[in-house]
Amino acid sequence: MNIEYSVLPDPQISCANCEACCCRLEVRLLTDTGVPHRYIGENAHQIEVMKRLDDGWCAALDRNTLMCSIYANRPLVCREFEMGSYECKVEREDILGIKA
Ligand code: SF4
Ligand code: SF4
Repeated sequence: MNIEYSVLPDPQISCANCEACCCRLEVRLLTDTGVPHRYIGENAHQIEVMKRLDDGWCAALDRNTLMCSIYANRPLVCREFEMGSYECKVEREDILGIKA
């Protein structure tokens, strides 16, 4: 049996042709990266997460540029979320309806 699969990120996918889909996910704060307190909330299980506003996006997302306003201090989860990864493609398809 010959199973082919790729673990490499998809080069066709770019944050530049996205709408910050991953910034609508719940982001847990696993380590202290210096996220300003005003952006930190709690989920239903009293676990620290990035606050999200009524539009669904993370409170730290710049709504004009759709870029992270605290990039140097973004949480570990955000640092590890890879553009073009399987998880990225799932979010893009769910929110934008873009099939990779
Ligand atoms: S990492 Fe993926 S889901 Fe997140 S903004 Fe970039 S392209 Fe969109
Ligand atoms: S901290 Fe920045 S990268 Fe992480 S979800 Fe919020 S806006 Fe997106």
